[in-house]
Amino acid sequence: MAVLAINGGEKVREKLFPAYNTIGIEEEEAVIRVLGSGKLSNFLGTWHSDFYGGKEVQALEEEWAACFGARHAIAVNSATSGLYAAVGACGISPGDEVIVSPYTMSASATAALVYGAIPVFADIEPEFFCLDPHSVESRITSKTKAIIVVDIFGLPYDADAINTIARRHGLFVIEDCAQAPGAKYQGRFAGTLGDIGVYSLNYHKHIHCGEGGVIVTDDDQLAWRLRLIRNHAEAVLDAKGIKRPEELVNMVGFNYRMTELEASVARCQLKKLDGFVAERQKNVAYLAKELAQIPCIEPAVVRPDSTHVYYVHPLLFDKNIAGISRGLFAKAVRAELAPTELREKEGVQLGCGYVKPLYLQPIYQHRIAFGSNGYPFNLAQNNLNYEKGLCPVTEQLHFETLMTHEFMRPPATKEDLDDVIRAFWKVWGHRDELCGQEA
Ligand SMILES: *Cc1c(COP(=O)(O)O)cnc(C)c1O
Repeated sequence: MAVLAINGGEKVREKLFPAYNTIGIEEEEAVIRVLGSGKLSNFLGTWHSDFYGGKEVQALEEEWAACFGARHAIAVNSATSGLYAAVGACGISPGDEVIVSPYTMSASATAALVYGAIPVFADIEPEFFCLDPHSVESRITSKTKAIIVVDIFGLPYDADAINTIARRHGLFVIEDCAQAPGAKYQGRFAGTLGDIGVYSLNYHKHIHCGEGGVIVTDDDQLAWRLRLIRNHAEAVLDAKGIKRPEELVNMVGFNYRMTELEASVARCQLKKLDGFVAERQKNVAYLAKELAQIPCIEPAVVRPDSTHVYYVHPLLFDKNIAGISRGLFAKAVRAELAPTELREKEGVQLGCGYVKPLYLQPIYQHRIAFGSNGYPFNLAQNNLNYEKGLCPVTEQLHFETLMTHEFMRPPATKEDLDDVIRAFWKVWGHRDELCGQEA
């Protein structure tokens, strides 16, 4: 008689996990207030006092800057827009090289492509999964202009080492902190560790307003250029007397503007961030302690002098100890559990790896991004390498050892977490039932 649910046994848990929904009455009231005002957005794309947006947008920016200890905060309509604006503001030009992690959401790398720059992928740290300073250094050439670091899963990058390398070579550091709002590195907030930081406010993140993002920087000049790019730069240059050729670089603007509705929601959400982060950390502490007892599972460690805010919780799986593959183990654990309410279609929140290393995506494999003639890859002056094997640590983690889950999201209770722990133990205890099966 089969015991494991995957073989027809009884599940550990049939009931859905509670909905992950950070929106409450405060957000509802804020949206009603904005709707009542009739001003759903208050940006004007020419030189005018409304160039900087409406009341809610400007209030969000002030509150965000104060909360994270940044000189400037610039609200945008997504972190993707924020990353694009950041690359533009740094003056990156076609043919330049930008070093980036391959283990991140795809926009961290396309930010380079949209300005005609070449993403150069460096490997990640085996224990923390952020860019590895040694690998970064080995990828620097005379064409390198910037490093896009990613605080992946909610842990800040190795800022001491990477910032030192960047300073030595005169490179910008753009910090993609979409997954790490509230995380700290030596007492400073993720997002404020490089030259420019970019937070996300999309539906999946710690706090959200549907879609949105916030850029922070301490540099007045970068902040000004970010605000120009956000709102049709080209249309205000004349009025601002900006006309010297070197001032026009990347001053083709976009509409990356956030509406008053989203800003009003984001302001409420920001007030709740600390509470959500504390809950995630408490839940992970409990899960990690319990799951660490299972011989084939090793919860990831946190960088010294840093805090992790757990956008996802990484676990390392040892197939030699388990005697079965990671894929099969995860599939069996998923079969024991239920999806999350409101997100039933996403299935049980346990996965193998995160995203396929970005250089294996078709656009890099075929070097086709804009148009059909290979731009911007055809501008590369150095050997372009997007071959399998380029980042062995990333590939080993992704294809063999890393598991990620999101069971720690609020409002998970101890009972919910206990079901998860029971499911892992059950699969461990009955893994001989799985021998010979396919993942
Ligand atoms: C979510 C995410 C983004 C993109 O955020 P959007 O607001 O959806 O554009 C970028 N980078 C990372 C690492 C992310 O997790």
